[in-house]
Amino acid sequence: MKIFLVFFMIVLCIPGEAQEVYNRTLKLMGSRFDISVVASSEEEANKEIDVAVDEISRIEKIISSWDPGSQTSEINRNAGIKPVVVDRELFDLIKRAMVISKLTDGAFDISYASMDKIWKFDGSMKEMPSPEEIKNSVSRVGYSKIVLDETNSSVYLPEEGMKIGFGAIGKGYAADKAKALLMSKGVPAGIINASGDMNTWGKQPDGEDWKVAITNPLNKNSAYGLVPINKGAVVTSGDYEKFVEFNGIRYAHIIDPRTGYPAHGIISATVFAPSAELADALATSIFVMGCEVGIARINQLPNIECIIIDDQGTVHTSDHININKYEK
Ligand code: ADP
Ligand code: MG
Repeated sequence: MKIFLVFFMIVLCIPGEAQEVYNRTLKLMGSRFDISVVASSEEEANKEIDVAVDEISRIEKIISSWDPGSQTSEINRNAGIKPVVVDRELFDLIKRAMVISKLTDGAFDISYASMDKIWKFDGSMKEMPSPEEIKNSVSRVGYSKIVLDETNSSVYLPEEGMKIGFGAIGKGYAADKAKALLMSKGVPAGIINASGDMNTWGKQPDGEDWKVAITNPLNKNSAYGLVPINKGAVVTSGDYEKFVEFNGIRYAHIIDPRTGYPAHGIISATVFAPSAELADALATSIFVMGCEVGIARINQLPNIECIIIDDQGTVHTSDHININKYEK
């Protein structure tokens, strides 16, 4: 017992540099990333943030659909032609994306990228496409058509014109990977925030949990509450500025891959989950599934919660979250 006490006293007496949060904002994967780490000096923090940036850039080179040199582009170019052997990392990401498709009855689908772009959300659309056009626009979409070969680690899109894209899961995946790498290097705490898709670890230097403000997208100045993040990741999906309105229905920029109609009824979905990848995919899926089905599905999943704001500005939450109890 005595030995322990002495040991403790020595540890406590070593003068340590104060830990602080250091932050860098930059553009990666076509989006704004804010990377924060808790470190003892700016020099240390800068080195750590560089590690995260390199990791995110590495992932972007694999999953980007815009980069013709990415493995994802190669898969898309070979649709209807031949299977493409890819890194295990990409193969596994596609496999997990297909599991989420099953979990959401196809509301989430990386082959959404095969859709004809018949909807425009920049105000230029004057009339609704015909039901025929809408139906045809999704004829090549369908995650169950993607052929994965475990042994060869190859991916095959069997129809010409079929494409996959990671717009609804890639930023979350990158946040997870950057977090894991920094944790493995001993960084005690931080946040990787990819335009609202964030993963956190550790606590703030004052010992408090990281907190995220849930705001009302219809009134940017009003926050519903500051939610402590202790389950890892939190992702908000929804761009309330990108929508098109027909017959009094406000259609969001996320399209239901099963019908070709844009999602409606929800303006923002926030998901808390152990990984940002899953939270990202589920936040997009909630838009497509709608409020009722979305919440019911989230309630079935362990360790996952959501906060949805509908187009009337009303807040809906999953069973184990109570927005009213958080500090304003
Ligand atoms: P953001 O990243 O814009 O905050 P999301 O994470 O919800 O929003 O992703 C939206 C993007 O996901 C779209 O721009 C598109 O690239 C892609 N996407 C749209 N609909 C689907 C869908 N049903 N399943 C998978 N990906 C989709
Ligand atoms: Mg998403």
